[in-house]
Amino acid sequence: MSEENPMTLHEIDLNLEALRPGDDGYDAAANVFFATGAPALVVRPRDADGVSSALAHATRHGLPVSVRSGGHSPVGHGTNTGGMVIDLAHLDSVEVVDADRRIVRVGAGATWGTVAAALEPHGWGLTSGDSENVGVGGLTLGGGVGWMVRRDGLAIDNLVAARVVTVDGRLVTASADEHPDLFWALRGGGGNFGVVVDFDFVAQEVAGVHFGTITYQLEDLPDLVVRWRDAMRAAPDELSSTLVLAPRFPGAAAAAMVLVCYAGVPGSTSADADAAIEPLLELGTVTAAKVEERRYAEVLEHAEHPPGLRLVGRNTLVPALDDDVIAAVERLHAMPTPTAVALRSLGGAFGRVAPEATAFAHRDAEAMIVCAVFLPATVSDADVEQALAPWREVAALGSGTYVNFQGSATAEDVAAAYPAATYARLAAVKRTYDPDNVLALNHNVLPAAEGADGPAA
Ligand SMILES: Cc1cc2nc3c(=O)[nH]c(=O)nc-3n(C[C@H](O)[C@H](O)[C@H](O)COP(=O)(O)OP(=O)(O)OC[C@H]3O[C@@H](n4cnc5c(N)ncnc54)[C@H](O)[C@@H]3O)c2cc1C
Repeated sequence: MSEENPMTLHEIDLNLEALRPGDDGYDAAANVFFATGAPALVVRPRDADGVSSALAHATRHGLPVSVRSGGHSPVGHGTNTGGMVIDLAHLDSVEVVDADRRIVRVGAGATWGTVAAALEPHGWGLTSGDSENVGVGGLTLGGGVGWMVRRDGLAIDNLVAARVVTVDGRLVTASADEHPDLFWALRGGGGNFGVVVDFDFVAQEVAGVHFGTITYQLEDLPDLVVRWRDAMRAAPDELSSTLVLAPRFPGAAAAAMVLVCYAGVPGSTSADADAAIEPLLELGTVTAAKVEERRYAEVLEHAEHPPGLRLVGRNTLVPALDDDVIAAVERLHAMPTPTAVALRSLGGAFGRVAPEATAFAHRDAEAMIVCAVFLPATVSDADVEQALAPWREVAALGSGTYVNFQGSATAEDVAAAYPAATYARLAAVKRTYDPDNVLALNHNVLPAAEGADGPAA
């Protein structure tokens, strides 16, 4: 390690902005959606050279590195204590690079709201997530489950290339033709392999988006889930929906709602949307319903962290919403700690991608079950574990997890996200691109040992 003070950045400050404790803006820059941090440095590169300089500085001084795009990691990986944060907020452009093929180049630090607004004048959209302020970088690298998941698959299924600064400072393009092993790993393997500066996506044509909420009395939870499941099994790919079992706060009536998004293609009519949505209006006693034609950019909501609470999230992917799963969901929702349970519909285009085609392998899932447990901010980790006990019953019935909704990042969590063959392949790619595990503040894939047989990428 160099004798030079790691806080002095004179050699690299031309192509990045640097904030140290005490600087204006440092306090805000140290924190992210789910965590309060105290990094030694927050750097904001202005280009790929800036990213390369930052990585060189961090490795020279042995600083742990957080890579941040939108800062919404549920584990708080976008900040740290005593290390460097590489905040990609300045790399937020959205540019059409080939209008005929609808190829758009999106900076990793852009938010999905910016992307939706920029694509709207073209009549295009990209399936992403449900919130406008979530970042392109983190969501894409984990997979990206959005309102058009059944129509267009995951965000990564629309990715054709990414430009990546590797930990040794090279700028490489990853695509089907160049560094295909890296391109495969970036599609679901998270931030383990380099710092992505921008992504090339194929935007999709979007017309006649109908979005809204249908609220039901929660009388018979298993019956409601079965009816929703069966309606989604029969639904066209243009329809995606999430069944939310609202947390039972003291004094509040039990309620459930379906958030629904119909995303048409050019030529789709309102009658098509109505016909697709109609079965969801017949799932139970509807107490309110508001579904209307909206701009896709409007559908993405601004997410806020609930003040004064610790929000603990877990998820699992289930091949089938069968009776055992539904019974476990009912027990989870009935527990005394307020818990929201969301069942997100999958299938459609999501399920037509081969499991080995990307590092997101769970393509047979019918639904993703996400739980969010609302606890007091001061709660201990032991209390969190206790509160999660009913969740484990649900998780035991799933076939794996989605890293981006996983509020912890233990070795067990990583193993649940990546089946053994996927993990072995990721570990081989990690050995090629980050053999010293410089990028470790993530759902960490360890470099395969020298001589270990990784399946061919
Ligand atoms: C309110 C809210 C709503 C959400 N809704 C959805 C949803 O609908 N669908 C969905 O799929 N997910 C959703 N998520 C989960 C989301 O995908 C993850 O939180 C994701 O990590 C956010 O990306 P980010 O860039 O904002 O986060 P960051 O914290 O900036 O990044 C997360 C991690 O990704 C890696 N990373 C980020 N950018 C780069 C990069 N450029 N190069 C290399 N590594 C990088 C790093 O390891 C980093 O720690 C939601 C999260 C929140 C908090």
